[in-house]
Amino acid sequence: MYYSATSLKKYISCPRKFKHMYIDKVYPIIDKPERLARGTNIHELLDYYKSKRMKFNPVLPDITLSLSDKIMAELWNIHYKNDGLTYVSSEKRFSTQIKGVKFKGILDGIVEDKFGNTCIIEHKTTSKVVNEDYFLTVNFDTQVLLYALCCKYMGYKIDYVIYDVIRLINKKKLVKTANPEYYKRDCKYGKKGDLKPGNRLEDETHSEYKNRIINFAKDNIRTHLVRREIPIEDSELIKFEKDLFQIIRSVKAGAFYKNQNACKKGRFLCDYFLVCNDEITLDNREFFSENYQG
Ligand code: SF4
Repeated sequence: MYYSATSLKKYISCPRKFKHMYIDKVYPIIDKPERLARGTNIHELLDYYKSKRMKFNPVLPDITLSLSDKIMAELWNIHYKNDGLTYVSSEKRFSTQIKGVKFKGILDGIVEDKFGNTCIIEHKTTSKVVNEDYFLTVNFDTQVLLYALCCKYMGYKIDYVIYDVIRLINKKKLVKTANPEYYKRDCKYGKKGDLKPGNRLEDETHSEYKNRIINFAKDNIRTHLVRREIPIEDSELIKFEKDLFQIIRSVKAGAFYKNQNACKKGRFLCDYFLVCNDEITLDNREFFSENYQG
């Protein structure tokens, strides 16, 4: 069995869920959440730009991206063009063994900075505000530490991790809100027949929409493209390795207890909720499949 950052995070959040997914190998039948597909597709476009920087001749990926996501990826490419980083690899799949246990993952990038330091670059996309709170727990992010540890065992000396965050823009195309023929009776108009703020006579054209997104992104570039350097100390990796093997021992010992605090996230119930409540079983093919849907 290979462990990944995703499976480890799953165990940390709820060991029972980990069991259903990675031991029983039974997965909920769901559409991939839009926000996940969005992140994956942006990663593909960033990979295209990074490969170009490595002087490869990449093919533009055939992916579905909203206009605003495409613009953010393009701005990322322009904004960081002269960041002094030399890409050694991009979207590199790896697998390695640590003390006989197998791990795998995908490194968004390995780069060298202008001082000769070797770094992992880790892309994140979010709709949240990227402020100090966002970075509060980044120093013990399981993925960052796992990847740094795996790199160490693969022979790379990682000096720091670059946490590269793109805050996505969620702006829809503006549509017309009033019929001009009835403007006098329409409550969207003021006494003089002028449109009240926020109302439009015509749908926004594609180029108006594009310009609005570009201008917004450029005006807010410092809050929408944010990087943070996370130093990787050997002492941190030693502590993380201990925690990691504590988890592995728990998995091997069959400690798959339920964590009721993880059953509901916002409005959403865990996909295995009915199983944990003994209302259905994992062999219910209306809800579950043996094929991973992620
Ligand atoms: S319903 Fe709750 S206890 Fe059951 S697997 Fe999901 S998170 Fe864990």
